[in-house]
Amino acid sequence: MKRLLVLGAGTAGTMVANKLRPALATDEWEITVVDQDDSHHYQPGYLFIPFGVYTSEEVVKPRSRYLSAGIELVLGGIDRVLPEENLVKLADGRDLAYDYLVIATGTRPCPDETPGMAGEEWGKSVFDFYTLEGSKALAEKLKTWEGGRLVVHITEMPIKCPPAPLEFAFLADAFFKERKMRHRVEITFVTPLDGAFTKPTASRLLGGMLDERGIALEPDFYIERVDNEAKTIVSYDEREIPFDLLVTVPLNMGAAFVGRSGMGDELNYVPVDKHTFLSPHWDNVFAIGDAADLPTSKAGSVAHFAVEVFTENFLQHVKGQAMTRSFDGHANCFVESGAGKAMLIDFNYDVEPLPGKYPFPGLGPLTLMEERRMNHWGKLMFRWLYWNALLPGRRLPVPTSMSMTGKRKVATPISPVEKEKVQ
Ligand SMILES: Cc1cc2nc3c(=O)[nH]c(=O)nc-3n(C[C@H](O)[C@H](O)[C@H](O)COP(=O)(O)OP(=O)(O)OC[C@H]3O[C@@H](n4cnc5c(N)ncnc54)[C@H](O)[C@@H]3O)c2cc1C
Repeated sequence: MKRLLVLGAGTAGTMVANKLRPALATDEWEITVVDQDDSHHYQPGYLFIPFGVYTSEEVVKPRSRYLSAGIELVLGGIDRVLPEENLVKLADGRDLAYDYLVIATGTRPCPDETPGMAGEEWGKSVFDFYTLEGSKALAEKLKTWEGGRLVVHITEMPIKCPPAPLEFAFLADAFFKERKMRHRVEITFVTPLDGAFTKPTASRLLGGMLDERGIALEPDFYIERVDNEAKTIVSYDEREIPFDLLVTVPLNMGAAFVGRSGMGDELNYVPVDKHTFLSPHWDNVFAIGDAADLPTSKAGSVAHFAVEVFTENFLQHVKGQAMTRSFDGHANCFVESGAGKAMLIDFNYDVEPLPGKYPFPGLGPLTLMEERRMNHWGKLMFRWLYWNALLPGRRLPVPTSMSMTGKRKVATPISPVEKEKVQ
């Protein structure tokens, strides 16, 4: 028997196992997946919990329910990988041998990495929404918060779902407007980037959307510490931003065992070939999803497209054949913009987000680079698709590689506020 060991039963690991199980003969291949617990979280749902749109029950389900028959789920923390011995050591002392290893242990927020962030104000006036506990605590806070200076903050890139902090700012604006208290809230979006987003065209558009909503943008802000007493965030170039409520995205890092195993970069992401996910050091080790050091967004959509490419390549690789499919870095991100609308952006390693229709060129029904109600419904519908189609490994009618068909290579639309400034 050959053994495929998948580390992490999150978005990518679950899809890898479910897609490969029918393709690998059960009398020749064992597939084992390891995770630290049996709770699968639909993380995009964390964004909506603070605003009372989703409850935690809607975003958490047992992992075991989403793994097909013939896949063994081992519950336990991973302590380290010994890649020269083809062995994984669990924290409880168990050893798991493998012939092929797929690392899909994602990335996680690490507030302890920034001085003062996880200090005495954590959970009082400093929150995150990148964990279930964080988003639930923030929901409680927002129920009674009377207003003041709300600072939405990104510590350092890369983070998973790069639009999520912007979405939080847009949803907060809409939330306070609905409660007739927007005039009592000053919102500032603080980022280490030089604009609102990572991609220049989308950055300009999203920057305009911040402007339209009266949300101030503080770019190039590299946080040095959170001052709990003064309630400020302080940058290395000594800028200080006061807050009454800080909603931060802490430094995101790959799993600690990746570092302990000597398999990661300085943020514990696993270096791999960006087209095949194969490690340059070990011919039987792959990394996929947020755990990999891919130069594209860390997002569930990327994991989905990547797994489609990976599974076909993997079947060739184990037969000693050349891997013929090449991942293009395809990502699509919904950007919830408040008041029942959302924008959608679609890009890859080489092509910036462009206007057009998605997934069917000319038809949509989703519209790229524009705020639309249909995009918002697409985002909400995605939760159902995630549990019922994506995780079980069903093929969705969307192209794996980014399509240029029907896309318009035009300048980014200028927001009304920007237009006024230009005139
Ligand atoms: C607030 C928020 C909003 C988001 N919105 C979107 C969105 O709209 N669209 C989108 O595409 N993506 C979105 N994402 C990102 C998306 O959720 C992730 O990119 C996706 O889940 C990555 O899948 P993964 O399998 O790589 O990692 P994960 O799904 O995080 O899975 C990693 C797994 O590894 C396990 N693990 C880690 N370390 C260990 C260890 N030492 N031992 C045992 N097990 C371990 C974890 O328990 C986890 O189950 C969002 C994320 C957040 C936080």
